Formats: sequence, structure tokens, C-alpha cells
Amino acid sequence: MSDLSTTTTRAAVAIPTLSAKAVLPWLLFAGLLMLVAMYFISAEQGAISLLSGTGVHEWVHDGRHLLGFPCH
Ligand SMILES: [Zn+2]
Repeated sequence: MSDLSTTTTRAAVAIPTLSAKAVLPWLLFAGLLMLVAMYFISAEQGAISLLSGTGVHEWVHDGRHLLGFPCH
């Protein structure tokens, strides 16, 4: 008679730990990128214009309306 029981072996998985000190620079960088994106969506070529033309405005126009920023 054969033994149909199965045995499972579990491998130990090491979960990497992240310290706040290691994550903080990445959080600041992501926050800076989000602020730059929010500037371009909300104000560039609208209330403020650092770049000439209407290219940025056309790229972010739908996002500007979606987020409720005044446009036109
Ligand atoms: Zn508009």
C-alpha cells in the first residue's frame, strides 16, 4: 500500500525591513515630484507662465478640469 500523504516544506522567507531613515529621502523626492506635477497641472500657462506657448496647457488641460482648477 502506498503512502498518499504529502509533506510540505516551507522555506523561510526573509522580509526586508525598511527604516524610516532609509525611506525618508524617497518620500521627499516623491513629494517634490508631486508638487512639480501639481504646479504644471494647476497653474502653468494659466495663472503663471514660466514657459511660453500653450503646449503645457494643452497637455494638462483635461487634468486641470478634472481636478477643479480654474482654466477658462
Ligand atoms: Zn479648460
